Amino acid sequence: MNDSTFDYIIVGAGTAGCLLANRLSADASKRVLLIEAGRRDDYHWIHIPVGYLYCIGNPRTDWLYQTEAAPGLNGRTLKYPRGKVLGGCSSINGMIYMRGQSRDYDQWAQLTGDANWQWQNCLPYFKFHEDHHQGASAAHGAKGIAPYLLQSDAHGDRASTDYFKLLKARQAGGEWRIEKQRLSWDVLDAFSQAAQQAGIPATTDFNQGNNEGVGYFDVNQRDGWRWNTAQAFLRPTCYARPNFELWTQAQVAGLVIEQDADGGKRCSGVKVWDGHQMVTASATREVALSAGSIGSAHILQLSGIGPAPELASHGVQPTHDLPGVGANLQDHLQIRSVYKVKNTKTLNTLANSWWGKAKIGLEYAMSRTGPMSMAPSQLGAFTKSDPQKEWANIQYHVQPLSLDAFGEPLHDFPAITASVCNLNPSSRGKVSLKSADFNEAPAIAPNYLSTDEDRKVAADSLRVTRRIMSQAAMAPFAPEEFKPGVQYQSDDELARLAGDIASTIFHPVGTTRMGQDDDPMAVVNSRLQVRGVRGLRVVDAGVMPTITSGNTNSPTLMIAEKAAHWIVQDAQAA
Ligand SMILES: Cc1cc2nc3c(=O)[nH]c(=O)nc-3n(C[C@H](O)[C@H](O)[C@H](O)COP(=O)(O)OP(=O)(O)OC[C@H]3O[C@@H](n4cnc5c(N)ncnc54)[C@H](O)[C@@H]3O)c2cc1C
Repeated sequence: MNDSTFDYIIVGAGTAGCLLANRLSADASKRVLLIEAGRRDDYHWIHIPVGYLYCIGNPRTDWLYQTEAAPGLNGRTLKYPRGKVLGGCSSINGMIYMRGQSRDYDQWAQLTGDANWQWQNCLPYFKFHEDHHQGASAAHGAKGIAPYLLQSDAHGDRASTDYFKLLKARQAGGEWRIEKQRLSWDVLDAFSQAAQQAGIPATTDFNQGNNEGVGYFDVNQRDGWRWNTAQAFLRPTCYARPNFELWTQAQVAGLVIEQDADGGKRCSGVKVWDGHQMVTASATREVALSAGSIGSAHILQLSGIGPAPELASHGVQPTHDLPGVGANLQDHLQIRSVYKVKNTKTLNTLANSWWGKAKIGLEYAMSRTGPMSMAPSQLGAFTKSDPQKEWANIQYHVQPLSLDAFGEPLHDFPAITASVCNLNPSSRGKVSLKSADFNEAPAIAPNYLSTDEDRKVAADSLRVTRRIMSQAAMAPFAPEEFKPGVQYQSDDELARLAGDIASTIFHPVGTTRMGQDDDPMAVVNSRLQVRGVRGLRVVDAGVMPTITSGNTNSPTLMIAEKAAHWIVQDAQAA
């Protein structure tokens, strides 16, 4: 690692960063540097799906953040895993492939005033990198170049022909593999039947724009192995390109901000701590921050870009007052109801005996199936917490296991967890500096259940869980509510109990949100350029103005695909 100059610098080799690196380095005339604080993804538990249990809370792969105590969680703090490794969170996540709902993107278009974010204009960018088990269709992409993208869309965001020449040149397409899961459980099949008896329709595809329904989730796996973004977008493509450079175990400590001749501010590079010394990498075109919702807000604040008075109070010299940096933190809070069951096996019982463990290991070794190929949540459902809602506003992640918290041992009785989350929380939290030292983690305050609306949805969603569990299809398993406990019935009690048993489902977004020019809290414009600082974009989950109605990994990839397109377009126009 030496002081050196590149065309593009990408900070963070996570979900967004790996895709961006692939697209920008496709042009052999551009030098691209990708910088990652974590190590390479050569740790076996990253690739074995059930290994998420060993990656979360492990300093080899996790930043080990902790939230501030939350009043809505009755004063509890939560472990807040974020991937610190090549692939970022895609190396430790639950692998669920989920786009969200079409209304999410239509709302972004409304909030930003930019039709490029409408669902119909995002769909091609999801499809572009998809390699879907059903093959190519109107809804899905599969391996090969996607000719539909060469047509102009309804709003004139015509795909630049040169961009697609570059993509064709790399002779790939559809790197993001989506497969069906390789196991099912009797008790989860029964939950699915029970959900249908409670009025939730069955679905085989949650990714068509309206995800209401119940079914097994599709997952980002290939042949029973986790498919992270490093596998999909870096290996082997980028590694074979002489114009691509990767620095791992290299932590960006701040941005270099200079003044242009006209007085405007410009980001010209980054300061990187390589474990021994601080080096500077310079970018002649752009720096893209893809350090995630926590990391990118933190780096901006350390660089003096953020709420000026707050930064100054920590001894950071403000370089550009942007009050929205770190604000608008949104996350999905999963309320984890646990039901004891009878007459069936769950992972609790299987994994708690030596014989069961050996059987699980053997099955995976022989056929890449069974519990080791398991995403943490297999079965999903989207429905309404209240029939008056226009769209499904809650999501279930149903697991054939139970524990007090991730990282704790499985319970020693057979049980399932029906975790439910409010897809569109109105609570807003914050990421802020604790000190000017880049090594000190920022304060993360998601501020869960801080609105009456969110507490009401929490109580109602627990009632929906009870309604599903009381259907005839579940009767053979004699489900018994272990948590929160049937004695709790009122709105107040259920909201309070939700605060006791709820945890993050790991979807922080919004801390560097996009918005219109007259919106003082917008951090980036709708092309993801940091307002008031040239040569700098944020390209990660932080730019979402509102959280998507589902898991956030693939929406982040779609954002990165759009950003790559714009970065190339802007370079051509310059
Ligand atoms: C445990 C867990 C389970 C999840 N399950 C799912 C799921 O099943 N499905 C789904 O769709 N979503 C899931 N998610 C969420 C999803 O993975 C994230 O929304 C998505 O990965 C965010 O992508 P990103 O590019 O914004 O950030 P990240 O993927 O977090 O990438 C940021 C990268 O930047 C690096 N970085 C940060 N700071 C610095 C710095 N200063 N210098 C250098 N590098 C830095 C990080 O180490 C990391 O590699 C889960 C997340 C977690 C943590």
